[in-house]
Amino acid sequence: MTGAPRRKKYLGAVDLGGSKILSVIAEGDGRRVGEDRRSTSAEEGPELVLERVVDSLETALANAGLQQGDLAAVGICSPGPCDIEAGVICSAPNLPGWRDVPICRYVEERLDVVTRLENDANAAAVGEHVYGAGRGCRHLIYFTVSTGIGGGFIIDERLYRGATGVAGELGHMTIDPRGPVCGCGNQGCLEALASGTAIAARGEELVAQGGSALLAELAQEQGKLTAATVAQAAGQGDMACRGIIRRAGYYLGIGFASYVNIFNPQIIIIGGGLVKVGDLLLAPARAEMEARAMPEALEAVQMKLAELGDYAGAMGMVALLREGMAA
Ligand SMILES: [Zn+2]
Repeated sequence: MTGAPRRKKYLGAVDLGGSKILSVIAEGDGRRVGEDRRSTSAEEGPELVLERVVDSLETALANAGLQQGDLAAVGICSPGPCDIEAGVICSAPNLPGWRDVPICRYVEERLDVVTRLENDANAAAVGEHVYGAGRGCRHLIYFTVSTGIGGGFIIDERLYRGATGVAGELGHMTIDPRGPVCGCGNQGCLEALASGTAIAARGEELVAQGGSALLAELAQEQGKLTAATVAQAAGQGDMACRGIIRRAGYYLGIGFASYVNIFNPQIIIIGGGLVKVGDLLLAPARAEMEARAMPEALEAVQMKLAELGDYAGAMGMVALLREGMAA
């Protein structure tokens, strides 16, 4: 890439997650020319992580044969509530000690380039809309199902942020008013019933009741019990574990049906780590959505798997920066 013309302006995007930082350098059309991945090491606190974000961007630039002056803008997405106008991460559940961190100002001062911030799930919805499974579609809902459940809405080709930027908290629709307590404090949210954390919790209960010798054994071997452990036992034919995953799919489908009725999307895109479980989770989700949604809304909607993997958030920032420059 050493021959890249210096006049050209590139876009930098960072997906700042609780466990890893992914930086991408892209051209305006979305072609990626450089990237860098590293561990967030969030336990070291905001100052060192901010430093690491800048280092990661500089490394991605160097990998593309570019320099600081080649960047037209930087976009950062991160979990949890953020003030996108002020460029401040208000708090982040996976980033301990992060409270009102002015990340955009920090990056702007260090790299001398205008920097924008967005919630990571919203950014991923934009990424899938512009470069992934939702290309060419006007109305879509993006779900990410992993440790938690999040997502975003694209309505009339635009990201819907709501009054204070919180829109798209898809995991916090109440499904069962007497259900388990959710991380948000409410009872029976979709996330408390169908996320990776929920599946792991049902797995723990199963083991405590002596309901699955296989799951107990796998958890012992691995030193922990996660949704992946339950999925592994399910894959080996454990009926109780298969039941836990099917039950999570059933709740997902109840959520999908409500969102389909409310928003009448063309596509529901499903991403996140739990999608790897496949049909054991997704078939009951689809069946439940079909059983509950209104026929007129159901007719219009397709369920699709996300296409961008862990690039979705960063590519969404590339798209948002491009849109901002065109405006
Ligand atoms: Zn909740």
